[in-house]
Amino acid sequence: MQKKPFITKEQLDKIIEQYPTPFHLYDEKGIRENARRVKEAFSWNPGYKEYFAVKATPNPFLIKLFHEEGCGCDCSSMTELVLSEACGVTGKDVMFSSNVTTADEYRKAKAMGAIINLDDFTHIDFLEEEAGLPDLVCLRYNPGGVFELSNGIMDNPGDSKYGFTKYQLLKGYSVLKMRGVKNFGLHAFLASNTVTNDYYSDLAAVLFRLAVEIKQQCDVSLSFINLSGGVGIPYRPEQESNDIMKIGEGVRKRYEEILVPAGLGDIAIYTEMGRFMTGPYDGLVTKVIHQKHIYKEYLGCDACAADLMRPAMYGAYHHITVMGKEDQPNSRLYDVTGSLCENNDKFAVDRMLPYTEVGDILFIHDAGAHGHAMGYNYNGKVRHAELLYKEDGSVQLIRRSETIRDLFATFDFCDVVKDADIPQGW
Ligand SMILES: *Cc1c(COP(=O)(O)O)cnc(C)c1O
Repeated sequence: MQKKPFITKEQLDKIIEQYPTPFHLYDEKGIRENARRVKEAFSWNPGYKEYFAVKATPNPFLIKLFHEEGCGCDCSSMTELVLSEACGVTGKDVMFSSNVTTADEYRKAKAMGAIINLDDFTHIDFLEEEAGLPDLVCLRYNPGGVFELSNGIMDNPGDSKYGFTKYQLLKGYSVLKMRGVKNFGLHAFLASNTVTNDYYSDLAAVLFRLAVEIKQQCDVSLSFINLSGGVGIPYRPEQESNDIMKIGEGVRKRYEEILVPAGLGDIAIYTEMGRFMTGPYDGLVTKVIHQKHIYKEYLGCDACAADLMRPAMYGAYHHITVMGKEDQPNSRLYDVTGSLCENNDKFAVDRMLPYTEVGDILFIHDAGAHGHAMGYNYNGKVRHAELLYKEDGSVQLIRRSETIRDLFATFDFCDVVKDADIPQGW
């Protein structure tokens, strides 16, 4: 199977004339069409809402785009709350799913009217003391042990720092009810980047049964169940993508089997997907600026791990297309590297690609989630621009490249680098 960029070489060359490489290029059409499919997949549930996980791609232009498509924001920090609010996403359109939360963050979330999702039992008192309890509170569940999907995919909730134990959860609802909270939600995130149509329905079965138990034991009827993120994308060309319509249908079946007979057929389903919403719809576009032949063959790029850290951090696979050479055989073995003084700064290791030369443009696929967002400034490298390839074929700058001035901004309390001699364009 082949992975194709959403843009042709000719179109990309035109963009590069105006915006020099490297840059992230997001596909508006792909993002909107996918957001609409997600909405349709869950349209059987009248209260359904997707809260886009802002951390995946914290760009105000994309947040607004998602808001136009009916999505809210899932935030986990002060900055994400402030950003959502600045984009006009506030009140119940904001889910605040944080952990190790500060008092200031709770106060801000409460002031915005956001839905607060508590990560721990002790946060009930903390929230009450620091911000006061809102009318609606959500609790995050951690079942412990191992979470195994029917297809064998596993994750390890027992090793994860998030959420309440079951005992704490049941006690939590009772305590909150006693203290005057009126409405409740339930949340869990049990496996990451699941490339299977079963994850949400398996998770839903766990949470729906728990909802019945919560009703029986605490006399609390949940208003919503938040399936959180974790729906994955096929980074490798041989992987098959998730079918969101099947995923929605799988959750509906569990809903009909478990919640409806228990008289809980009015619970809204929420999701807070990040990766699935933006991951496939962005390519990191970078130029090969050096080629090196030592014990291995290296292609050196003008982008580095500052622009996309996943390969360096997790050894993650990102497919690479050499633009204009799509039909040539993958005849050469390369390491594709950035310029950091870190040997893990490699977009690909031992990758078969067509014969590639200095000046060739690489399209690094699936960089749209946890890509630019994870970037860092090690070695004084800047994070480069984000561009939006619009539905009408035009291109919009949605974040400029950082500059050395930006990196020096934290010395603005003194004049130690005031007279720095910064070359043009840096
Ligand atoms: C990261 C995260 C998400 C989004 O996860 P994806 O795998 O990108 O969909 C959603 N909710 C919470 C609480 C998260 O931490």
